[in-house]
Amino acid sequence: MKSVNWNGSDIFPSKIVCVGRNFVDHIKELNNQISDEPVIFLKPNSAIASELHSCPTELLHYEGEITFLINNGQLSGVGFGLDLTKRALQDKLKSNSLPWERAKSFDKSAVFSNFVDFNSALREIRMELHINDVLVQSGGCDLMLNQPDQLLAEVNEFISFEDGDLLMCGTPKGVGPVNVGDRFVGKIFNKDNVLVEHDWTVK
Ligand code: ZN
Repeated sequence: MKSVNWNGSDIFPSKIVCVGRNFVDHIKELNNQISDEPVIFLKPNSAIASELHSCPTELLHYEGEITFLINNGQLSGVGFGLDLTKRALQDKLKSNSLPWERAKSFDKSAVFSNFVDFNSALREIRMELHINDVLVQSGGCDLMLNQPDQLLAEVNEFISFEDGDLLMCGTPKGVGPVNVGDRFVGKIFNKDNVLVEHDWTVK
């Protein structure tokens, strides 16, 4: 089983629940429709990685996402996640009304920083992604169509969270390609205080 680190301990998530189309600016970026309900999909434990790898056969897109670790049914830890996506394949699957697993749930498609506790209001949590020292994505819970606690409640209506499961809350605009050698720095803030910072060099 793959693990993530929460306050210095190894945690083994049974699954990652991902949310699509949760930031209006990103929905417009991909020419998608705003949904009545949040778009939910899963990544398995086998998708978890701590290193960031490009794909030799296909262009990957990064999606930087505020990610919560669930414990005792609560949003208990927060970290920075990269939802890696085979965008051309996803577009093909979408146009054929097929499920997204081939484009979203492959090995090493969910890359995480460490997770830490937080005691700030959810609306004060925000993220930034820098690539080669250029800010490419930024956004906070205050800009989400569905707030993380709403998402938790909504998902709970049909999927149970095990302790250690992860909730990826969707990406703001600014998604783009993962190129070998690029340096990614993901940050999670409570207002202006950095809660988590992690850097990866793409292999
Ligand atoms: Zn995503």
